[in-house]
Amino acid sequence: MSGLDLPETIDVDDVPEFSDTVDVLVLGAGMGGCCAALEAARDGAKVLVLERSAAAGGTSCMAGGHFYLGGGTKVQQATGHDDSAAEMEKYLTAVSRDPEPEKIAAYCADSVEHFDWLEALGFEFERSFYPEKAVIQPQTQGLMFTGNEKVWPYSTQAVPAPRGHKVPVPGDTGGAGMVIGLLVDRLADEGVEIRYETGGRKLVTDGDAVVGAAWKNTDGAEGFIRAGAVVVAAGGFVMNPDMVAEYVPQLAEKPFTLGSTYDDGLGIRLGASVGAELKHMDQAFITAPVYPPSMLLTGLVVNKNAERFVAEDSYHSRTSGFVMDQPGAAAYLIVDEAHMERPEFPLAPFIDGWETIDEMADDLGLDRAALHATMDRYNEHAARGEDPDFHKSPEFLAAQDTGPWAAFDMTLGKALYAGFTIGGMATTVDGRVQRPDGSVIDGLYAAGACAANIAQDGKGYASGTQLGEGSYFGRRAGRHAASTRVLAGTERAD
Ligand SMILES: Cc1cc2nc3c(=O)[nH]c(=O)nc-3n(C[C@H](O)[C@H](O)[C@H](O)COP(=O)(O)OP(=O)(O)OC[C@H]3O[C@@H](n4cnc5c(N)ncnc54)[C@H](O)[C@@H]3O)c2cc1C
Repeated sequence: MSGLDLPETIDVDDVPEFSDTVDVLVLGAGMGGCCAALEAARDGAKVLVLERSAAAGGTSCMAGGHFYLGGGTKVQQATGHDDSAAEMEKYLTAVSRDPEPEKIAAYCADSVEHFDWLEALGFEFERSFYPEKAVIQPQTQGLMFTGNEKVWPYSTQAVPAPRGHKVPVPGDTGGAGMVIGLLVDRLADEGVEIRYETGGRKLVTDGDAVVGAAWKNTDGAEGFIRAGAVVVAAGGFVMNPDMVAEYVPQLAEKPFTLGSTYDDGLGIRLGASVGAELKHMDQAFITAPVYPPSMLLTGLVVNKNAERFVAEDSYHSRTSGFVMDQPGAAAYLIVDEAHMERPEFPLAPFIDGWETIDEMADDLGLDRAALHATMDRYNEHAARGEDPDFHKSPEFLAAQDTGPWAAFDMTLGKALYAGFTIGGMATTVDGRVQRPDGSVIDGLYAAGACAANIAQDGKGYASGTQLGEGSYFGRRAGRHAASTRVLAGTERAD
């Protein structure tokens, strides 16, 4: 059996009996699913959540805890950062490969309300700002830049503002688990059952509509649940080698995969089994950050042809995305002695130091003349605070003209790249799953990493958009499912 196989569908007339009947059935208790379930329950729907593992949270519990929010949140205001929904919308539109205007507009217009909704779960983002260029705030600072807002050309298309809101948990992993814990508590307040160690396996259909799902638990018991609507929120597909090889082969080769066991794409395949369009399946967040220390970003990144190819001050996954496009996915970061600092966690390994550029070129297998030409041009302009080729910000421009020189290896297979998938089911602004012709599949919703929304490609990715969109569009899916499917569910229940 291949990991690309689609689950069968079950015709409702072939279901012998239903173990449960609900208005909204949610598959997966991660960020997307919990938010969908909570909003549906608060809107009065009878909700049941199936969770394949023994605990809630999935990959969300591994996440550092960035939520991409803006438009004037309380943290932005308290830390003196002007922002507006309009500028946020311009930015997210500019970084999207195939912008969905209705979704981006809604996400930005509602961002302050969504921030307040998240805090109302029972926590506060710290009213503080972390000014350094880093992958994530080291402590509990509430806000930092987590995308390419200050990077050309985006800096000219929208007024830059920091939007990476981090939950108040120190460290770079696991912070979002705190939000999952609160969501589970709020679901309990609403009387919503999360049925653990029980996975949704197939969809039950009535004609073209989805009206329930088949389940199986870890004791081997099986059954069917009838539902007015099914919200699939079952995560991405980074743990499915066949899907990764098919859709994102660059992630199949060498990077570490970031995800939980059940990121096996079953949710996406459930959608595909009833005709869902899949979008951005070739895209992944792949990264091996070379910063901090941000001093290293004053250096130049070159490929095997000794050519620069990206503004080195880009958000780390943008730089990594461009590395993947280079011949042999090979790249080197070069700095001179004055700008050399050793990273605390060297994901791109230090190769060596050399007294001359010729020696460095020889060891790296680069053409001497080409490397000289690239470095001369870079240094000449950097000394004047200019970068006519890639428009790196003056903050990170410095001539690398004083030997010895050092190089770090950003080559795929040498640097420690890690990644997760981005693509998923096409959905409307309310999370309704769509077919390739744009029509909606009645009764089927998708949220979180198994849906395609705002995070569309690694180069345009901003940390926080996955949890941000998973929670926001999860809420919308839950509300829509509850409001339009309750009566249908009740009717069908009899
Ligand atoms: C190390 C790391 C750090 C990250 N940091 C950030 C960050 O700071 N900000 C950000 O925006 N994004 C971050 N991400 C990405 C983000 O965590 C994920 O995209 C997001 O958590 C996905 O949420 P989800 O609800 O779709 O999936 P999940 O949280 O994985 O939830 C899906 C759930 O569905 C369950 N499930 C699977 N199949 C079934 C089934 N058939 N039936 C029932 N249940 C099922 C799974 O067990 C799981 O619990 C990070 C990812 C990693 C790996």
